[in-house]
Amino acid sequence: MTDTILVLNAGSSSIKFRLYADVPDREPELLLRGQVDGLYGRASFAAKDANDSRVGQHEWNEASPPGHDGAVAWLLDWLRQRLGASHRVTAVGHRVVHGGTAFAAPVRIDGDVLARLERLVPLAPLHQPHNLALIKILLASDPDLPQVACFDTAFHRSQPMLAQSFALPPEYAEAGVRRYGFHGLSYEYIATVLPQFEPRAREGRVVVLHLGNGASMCAIQASHSAASTMGFTALDGLPMGTRCGAIDPGVLLYLMNERKMDARALERLLYHESGLLGVSGLSNDMRMLEASDSPRAQLAIDLFVYRIGRELGSLAAALGGLDAIVFTAGIGENSKTVRERVCRDAAWLGLEFDEQANAAGGPRINTESSRVSAWMIPTDEELMIARHVRRALSADVGV
Ligand code: ADP
Repeated sequence: MTDTILVLNAGSSSIKFRLYADVPDREPELLLRGQVDGLYGRASFAAKDANDSRVGQHEWNEASPPGHDGAVAWLLDWLRQRLGASHRVTAVGHRVVHGGTAFAAPVRIDGDVLARLERLVPLAPLHQPHNLALIKILLASDPDLPQVACFDTAFHRSQPMLAQSFALPPEYAEAGVRRYGFHGLSYEYIATVLPQFEPRAREGRVVVLHLGNGASMCAIQASHSAASTMGFTALDGLPMGTRCGAIDPGVLLYLMNERKMDARALERLLYHESGLLGVSGLSNDMRMLEASDSPRAQLAIDLFVYRIGRELGSLAAALGGLDAIVFTAGIGENSKTVRERVCRDAAWLGLEFDEQANAAGGPRINTESSRVSAWMIPTDEELMIARHVRRALSADVGV
């Protein structure tokens, strides 16, 4: 019987999953992937195998949506039926957005760890409760099933204290108000695979651009995070699909004082009504903006590219120079135009862009004479989680 690792990524209205075969001495091998969407509305389930063939589909009656509890129970049941007697789920890995300062690495979950993660909910109220919901459900329904939490913040704990600090009185930092950084599983994955393409990266200075619906950039020195554009929350740094990115905090004071906006109204504006969507008035999807000839859509892309260029300069300064940059995530992997514009703007850093290589999708998109190399490498946060689960559990056995 083959052991498998189930990787879960829970959002407010969806649960994404991937199932990997866990065979010793081999990279976890993807068997199945899918998701349940619309957990509290028109819920639906879809799954594919490793060849992208559809292997499962289900819709719930709108009057009785499954919620997180019902969906995860249904998913485990479906997996049992699908796998039959040849495979069994032996461990679960969860993407958990916040590990605070205490969790600098993945951790096997027990009651005590769960209680500590619950205390971090105020730091990520929009994400952490959903991540923890699944953990609690599985702890209650299947207490012997090992679960491992993998954090979006953990990779950044290697940053120097200066990079993690705000210029506030120390009591705020002691209360947890500091820069944490996010998208860490994506950056860690890229840091592990990049040396296969670019041997200099193992010891060198790299900036990774994770450009998805959520977008951030990370300065990596010798495979460790040195600085990142996201800070206390996943709101800082680049403009994103619907988030504003870096904003003068004085704007918030102005909106509170003059427009009488309260915390909820600001949250709605900054998280859901800004970024590419807010500027374009059209969409948060880069594909739609690139296809549009509306001046506002163009402005949204211009602003996105401009802010990336500014942050690239800042992160290169934090690294004291630059050897390579890597584009990843939805926009980074698919938008040739954004990659081209960012690379051309980075010519001053010693990057010579190769138009043909970029059109062909890379992975290398710089010319031979370029001092700084540029890459397009697809990220794989779920595989990173599966690797961590295996490592965390085998370390447990040795204790
Ligand atoms: P998330 O942060 O939700 O994981 P993804 O990494 O999946 O986001 O990226 C989603 C974004 O990628 C979409 O909103 C879209 O803007 C962008 N994207 C996907 N495909 C393309 C494409 N072919 N061209 C330009 N942008 C794309």
